Amino acid sequence: MSRIFCIANQKGGVGKTTTCVNLAAGLARIGQRVLLVDLDPQGNATMGSGVDKRTLPTTVYDVLLETASVAEARARAEKAGYDVLGANRELAGAEVELVALEHRHERLRRALRAADADYDFVLIDCPPSLSMLTLNGLCSAHGVIVPMQCEYFALEGLTDLVNTVKQVHANLNKDLQLIGLLRVMFDPRITLQTQVSDQLKAHFGEKVFNTVIPRNVRLAEAPSYGLPGVVFDPSSKGAQAFIEFAREMVERVTAETAAASS
Ligand code: ADP
Ligand code: MG
Repeated sequence: MSRIFCIANQKGGVGKTTTCVNLAAGLARIGQRVLLVDLDPQGNATMGSGVDKRTLPTTVYDVLLETASVAEARARAEKAGYDVLGANRELAGAEVELVALEHRHERLRRALRAADADYDFVLIDCPPSLSMLTLNGLCSAHGVIVPMQCEYFALEGLTDLVNTVKQVHANLNKDLQLIGLLRVMFDPRITLQTQVSDQLKAHFGEKVFNTVIPRNVRLAEAPSYGLPGVVFDPSSKGAQAFIEFAREMVERVTAETAAASS
């Protein structure tokens, strides 16, 4: 059975895609079978996994319109070591097309169920909005991972996301939980970042992941080589942090599964 996680934050540029591709690569590195689903029409996670969005014959768009299954539409990110259900600009149209269709918020969920046995982890890279695409992600998932920078306005947008997760949990997907907040692009030399980090821990406690992702230039350089940082330069500080985060995720899932069966 696969565990499905959305990487979400309605702000752009906060590190969602970087988290998604590097967590996927980190999990693959420690032997997990991973599917990355790109739900952002920008297709950054697709390209950043080394899959060319411009030449993909099938994408997540086809899956949402039910003209292809996950098994038919996925591509292999050879060097990164995981499968990708890619996205490109075509996906921007899906938002409007879905409005007229039945089960519009559940289409990804249904499709992923059919691929349940193929993966240990499914990671969904969400667009920077609380749109129908993000809703499809949230309706499919067991958990939401929220990457955030420890900046002054970081907490502001969080309330909307937390409320959305609560509403989806109450009305559409009772499996959905806020798994955790991941501190990214962290620079401990900046006092404000340390203060916001402490506030986050005071406010959200266990929901803040132990792993902290540092600001690291190798992570930013990797996408231009079509590789996750974890594959591009495994010894870099950023890559090491994501491999550590992958371990933390496996531990959490293992602990959860043990608790559920006892
Ligand atoms: P989002 O998907 O939320 O829009 P991205 O993951 O694309 O955000 O990140 C935004 C920018 O910040 C990108 O240029 C990315 O390379 C850079 N970036 C993300 N995380 C880090 C990090 N830990 N260190 C340095 N640069 C980072
Ligand atoms: Mg992105």
